[in-house]
Amino acid sequence: MKQALLSAPEDIRLIDSPRPDPGPDELLIAVASVGICGSDLHAYHGRHPFIQLPIVPGHEFGGTVVEVGENVRNFIPGQRVTVEPSLVCRQCYNCTHGRYNICEQLKVIGCQSPGAMSEYLAVPAAKALPLPENVTWDQAAMVEPLAVAVHALRVAQLQPGAQLLILGAGTIGLMTLQVALAMGADRVMISDLVQDRLDLALDLGAAEIVNPGTTDLNIALEGAFGVWRADNIVECVGVAETARDAIRVARKGTRIVLAGVFEREVSVNLGLVQDRELELVGPLMYVNDAFPTALELLQDDRVRVEPLITHRFPLSRAGQAFATADSRQGALKVLVDVL
Ligand SMILES: [Zn+2]
Ligand SMILES: [Zn+2]
Repeated sequence: MKQALLSAPEDIRLIDSPRPDPGPDELLIAVASVGICGSDLHAYHGRHPFIQLPIVPGHEFGGTVVEVGENVRNFIPGQRVTVEPSLVCRQCYNCTHGRYNICEQLKVIGCQSPGAMSEYLAVPAAKALPLPENVTWDQAAMVEPLAVAVHALRVAQLQPGAQLLILGAGTIGLMTLQVALAMGADRVMISDLVQDRLDLALDLGAAEIVNPGTTDLNIALEGAFGVWRADNIVECVGVAETARDAIRVARKGTRIVLAGVFEREVSVNLGLVQDRELELVGPLMYVNDAFPTALELLQDDRVRVEPLITHRFPLSRAGQAFATADSRQGALKVLVDVL
């Protein structure tokens, strides 16, 4: 079978590998569609803090079951599925306390374990979710990032009626925007340096947009939401500027969720965190029902992911898919069609 291997920074090769056999508790999946995500791009440059090369990337995907392991009873060949890509030990402190997303032995498909940029992939049956008929392959590949947004907002403790500030209008920012509205947020302000992304955010329901390159974020925030500014802040970029902005503009006592992946250590003013009793929380992936909730949001058409899909390539052009996603020239979600 063919698969795309990220063999070294910026070097994607199409290789031939033997088709895997599913283990007793696994499914063999014929992959249909895979998304490229921001964390894949950190890995692409060899700069992801927790991904070593070489790796077959791909953690956002859907596919068709072609074989089931001998212990698997709840799936049959021909079923369409998406897969929660976190592989966990079920035994460590966090796994046994309802927080398997931060398992001590966490491995993520496509990050520390071979991923879905491959014609076939064996996955634990326990991690697969059947796709409702009306969910397309494109949507199947978007369940994973959508689940990230669901979990980030749960960590943020978003309440109905809240005024929310999102820093960054990339895929995760735009999904967080839509999930927040679906969860009952009153108004969302979103910031980005790219006008096209801000325009799309308006289309997707943002009440306010701001380009912090030209407008002071704090002034914009106070102008839009009033003197008490935002109830929640979700940072979706992962650079020093947005982390500092989040701390600078937060109302005293705010919980700031840092959902961006930080490639390097950044310095922020912890004096403000102490003085203003701010909370900085890092959400990781998703846990419990966040993944099925994301699928439900898509099934019920409460979230639109199609406008985020800007490019698509066949598996044979996976290298170009990565280069396009990386160029950021108008690219949001780049999909690789494996079928
Ligand atoms: Zn991702
Ligand atoms: Zn564990």
